Formats: sequence, structure tokens, C-alpha cells
Amino acid sequence: MTRRAIRVLVLVAVAALATTAADSPTGAAVTPDPAPSPARPRPDILLVTLDTTRADILGCYGGDPGVSPNLDRIAARSHLFERCEASVPQTMPSHTTIFSGLHPFHHGVRKNLAVMVGPEVPLLAEELHGLGYATGAFVSSFVVDGRFGFARGFDHYDAPDTRPSAGNAMERRAGDTVRAAIEWTAAQPSPWFAWVHLFDPHAPYEPPPPFSGRFAGRPYAGEVAYMDNEVGRLVGSLVAAGRFDGALVVIAGDHGEALGEHGEETHGILLYEATTRVPLLVHLPGQVEGSRHAAPVGLVDVAPTVRELVGIDTSGDGSSLLPALQGRAELPGDRALYLESLEGYLKHGWAPLHAVVRGRLKYIESPRPELYDLVADPDERRDLVGDRPEAAADLAEILAGIRPADEADHGEAVVLGADEEAALVALGYVAGSPGRAAGTRRNPADAIALEPVHQRALAAQVAGDLDQAAKLFEQELEHDPSSPVLLWYLGTCLTESDPTRAAASFRRAIELRPDFEAPYGSLAELLLKQGKTEDATAVASLGIDETLDTSGLLHYLRAAATAVSEGAVGAAVRDLDVAIARAPRPGSAYLLRAALRLQRLGDPSGALADLELFVEWSTPDDIARLATDRRFDPLRGDPRFDRLVPGKGGPPGSG
Ligand SMILES: [Zn+2]
Repeated sequence: MTRRAIRVLVLVAVAALATTAADSPTGAAVTPDPAPSPARPRPDILLVTLDTTRADILGCYGGDPGVSPNLDRIAARSHLFERCEASVPQTMPSHTTIFSGLHPFHHGVRKNLAVMVGPEVPLLAEELHGLGYATGAFVSSFVVDGRFGFARGFDHYDAPDTRPSAGNAMERRAGDTVRAAIEWTAAQPSPWFAWVHLFDPHAPYEPPPPFSGRFAGRPYAGEVAYMDNEVGRLVGSLVAAGRFDGALVVIAGDHGEALGEHGEETHGILLYEATTRVPLLVHLPGQVEGSRHAAPVGLVDVAPTVRELVGIDTSGDGSSLLPALQGRAELPGDRALYLESLEGYLKHGWAPLHAVVRGRLKYIESPRPELYDLVADPDERRDLVGDRPEAAADLAEILAGIRPADEADHGEAVVLGADEEAALVALGYVAGSPGRAAGTRRNPADAIALEPVHQRALAAQVAGDLDQAAKLFEQELEHDPSSPVLLWYLGTCLTESDPTRAAASFRRAIELRPDFEAPYGSLAELLLKQGKTEDATAVASLGIDETLDTSGLLHYLRAAATAVSEGAVGAAVRDLDVAIARAPRPGSAYLLRAALRLQRLGDPSGALADLELFVEWSTPDDIARLATDRRFDPLRGDPRFDRLVPGKGGPPGSG
């Protein structure tokens, strides 16, 4: 189907959805379903995840109806869950829960990036693929790139194009993602499973026109409104094709956005409803009327619900909502839903946060536990721990029962193995340093008060005012002297002005959290710049052992450090192979491999192939430097090389 044809269909479809929502049992022209057997139905399945979307920003959840006319229309033909809780207010862990139906302590993804969805985690896409579904993913942020383990089970994985020629984007707008999803679904025979992830409401809030003007002064709402418009296009394409009525459509937020509530600007650290309560809509095949459910449910229930509908084993941490949605059972009002945030703990050494929602109550376990009545006090302003100590004690016990016993040591120091201790000592760390991983264990609810300073520090760093940024990070460190992430940030501000202190800061961050990737990379890079290639190799190697090196940076730096010694070219090339496979932008790794192939391995043809890939992944400035890079002198005059170099035969890619 051509794009124009799709566009025409979509226009028709949006109108059809608008008029049929309330009054027509069949909607627009419907093609019959591929006769599914009642026991094992195989409906098309659309899962849309709305990143960073608060439930209460949507009209169907009591917000401004002008923000979400399309989602509101879909809600009118779907089950709407008034109280759905995300397990973790962060993208990667939350999506892993959505796809697996497992609590974070079972699927193992407790934070963003620097972590992978393990091969043992059961994922919906793989299960549906096993049933014969065509599977396609259309994601809008690098955070859910296929490399982190989300691609398992998908035939087709469409993620932002991170090449400079495509705009260097680590994220993309809903319009681009939805366009790809519409083209793919239109071309698929049933049954298919499509996951569409939309990222627009994530900070920074920069809605495109006309939403920027229509929501002037409310840019977050503007982003949600733009995303809603694209959801309308996506679902409209199914309506137009007669494929909406018979499909299972699940639309869920992955977490909310605090927007300043309780002192938090964005999301990820605290466990208040602003970031944990999300929209959840489920349109069952054949459903024509909407229905609202007040009982609390969780994103952990999404996978079991889909599984039960298609006849897959639903065992896991969540519960299938299907019996209630089909009117066979009531949703229990007293489910205990588990929530956690380890972000403050992992980044700053603050106390880890765990919470449980049961009925109308929410209990947050922290150095100063909190209890809220979410029905009477949805904004969580009146802590009831003092008034209702028995209720708090009950929920504390329920929470302890959900968490595995070996999780109880969160909040204690990280215990290193003997090998790790030895490796750290060899690098000049003080063995058994009492401060290691102790952290302050401050209550994140209090510690978040420094958030404005932190935001100013990050802004200064981005603006290039490193002195000011360093001062602000130091101000934060007075309160959190053993925060690994602050020590790393401080080091990155000092690499030029005070490399000795920068190195000490990186070493301390590594000592505090040996599984934190970033300081290994920064330290190895600094040592490399100082010509200390052996030290750089040692630091990169330690980082490769202690972390997952998800970006491949440590492999790249180790290759750069080892390549200077004569005997190690094979090891360096192997490291570069890893770096190229993992890096979001592998241009520099291709360049280094090209140089090694040409100079050390006598392989000009391999070098040229790498240089072509370097050009594909690099900015015009980087490419321009090829013209004066002496390492490639032997290739000058070769038409394949000259074509790549600016000023010789036109810009790259034009030939
Ligand atoms: Zn997210």
C-alpha cells in the first residue's frame, strides 16, 4: 500500500472511530476474522506503550479532554483501569515487567541501560511468535533498543536510526514510529503482534506545531496531545482496514512524570502516584462498549492477560485480568501490588524504596515509612503512618512477604569477591575501605530536595561551563559524599582543569559501585590521553569484567590502548568487533579498525570496507579529518578511498 493510500484510509478511519465509538456494534467496514477456534483464538494484537504518561493527563482519566481525544475515543470502546500501577517508574524495568509479567526482582532489570533483559526472561513477543504470530516492534527511544534484549521474538525491530546522516537521533517522534508501524501492520497477514512505543512526553517537553501553540505554557500536555494524535492515526489505520474490532489492543503508560510533585521533576526516584500510576486500556476482540474498573491492577498483569487470551501458560507474578473483563469473575479489590525504585540507591547510595498498594492504601518503605489513602488523598499529602500504625504494620508485612528474602540486604554494603578486591588493590584502591558502597542511605524523599541544584549542574555542564558545574556537583557531594554518580559527574568536569582530581574522583566512584560502567570509561579515556596505556588497559579490562559494557566503549578504549603495543593487534581487533556490535555510534571503532587493518594486518581492502562504514556513522567534521589522517596515506589515489574524502569526487554518499 502506498503512503498516500494509507493516509486517505486513516482520515476515513479516524472519522469512523469517532462516530462508531458509542453507537455502532461493528464500526467501519469490517472484514471477517480469520476464524479463530474458540479454544485458541489468534486475534491480531496491538500493544502501545506511552512513555512518561501520567494517567491524569488524559481526558478519560479526568484530565483536559482537549489533550487526548483519540485515546478517549478508544477508551470508550475498551476496558479502562482507573488505578494501574507501574512496578518501577523507569522505562527499561517497566517495559520488562510489561513483556514478562514478572516483578523486577524476578526479571532482573532494576534500572535503565547498563543492563540487559536476560535470555531466561519469558517475553510475550517470543511466546506469540511461537504461536505463529508475525511480530514487529516500533520503538521511539534508544532506551528500548533491541540490543538490550527486547528484540527477542520479534521478526522486525524498528528503532531510531542513530546514524548522523539520519539526524543523530537517540529518539524519534511518534509520527515516524507510527508511520513505520502502519506500513508494517498493513502488509501483515493475520495474526500479527505489533508493539508501538511512543516517547514524546519524555523530557525535554518540545511539542511540534500546532500542539506547541495550542498548549502554550503546558508543553508536557502538548507532547501528550501530539502523541495522542499519532495514536489516533495508528488505531485509525486498523479501523479503516477493518482490523480494529477483532483485535486485542492494549495501551499502557510505562510510568508517569512528577512535574515537580513531591520535589521530583521527572521520574525514576520516588514512588508517588505521579510517576507510578499509569493509564491502561484494554480493547478485547469484539468489544464495542467501554467499561471502567476501579480495583487496583498493575502493569505486571498485562502479559498474563494477553497470554490467557491466546492460550499460553499465565504463571508469573501478575494476574490475568481476562476473567474479570469477560464477566466471569470480579477483580479482587485487595490485590497487593509491588513497587520499587532502586535508582536513588544505585546512583547516590540513598535508601532503596519499596512500596505496596493494596485496596485504597499505599505503604512506602523507607527510613521514614509513609502510608497514604489513595482514594481520599490521591496526591499523597497526608501521611497516615502515625494515625494508622496497624495498617502500616500490616502492609509492611505483606511487602516483606512479596520481596524475596535475599533482597533484604539492599541497603547494606556491596560485598566484593576476593578477585575483585585484588584487582582493585592492584589499581591502587584502598582495600576494605570503610566507605565502600556504604552510601548515606538518606531517604530519597528528603534527598530529592537537592534536585534543583542537580538540574542546574547538568545544565551548566551541557552549556560547557565546567567550573560552575563542578562547583554545583561539589555542593551536592557535601550532602552525598559517597554518591557514585556525583563523583563521576564531578570527574568529567575536571578532566581538563585538574586531571589528578578527576582520576581520583573516577576511582572513588568505581570503588563505591564496581558495576557502574561510566567511570571506567572516563578514567580509561583520561589515562589514554595521558599516554598511560598500560593503566588505561587495566582500567578498561576491569570495567569489562565488572560491568556489561553495554555501549562497547570499554572494549573500544581497551583496543585503543592495547593497539599501541606491537603484539596485541589481534586482541585489539577482537575488542573492536565487540565495540562495533554494541556502540550506538560505532564510527570511531570502524576508523581504528581500518587503521589497524591497513597498517598492521596488510589488509587495504578490509580497511576500505571499514572506512566506508566509518563514513556512514560519522559527522561531516569527523569525515573531513580523513583528508589529513596520515595513517591512510597508502590509500590515497585509490578511487574507493578518494570518493570518501571530502573535496575529492564530491561529498560522501553522492556517488
Ligand atoms: Zn519510560
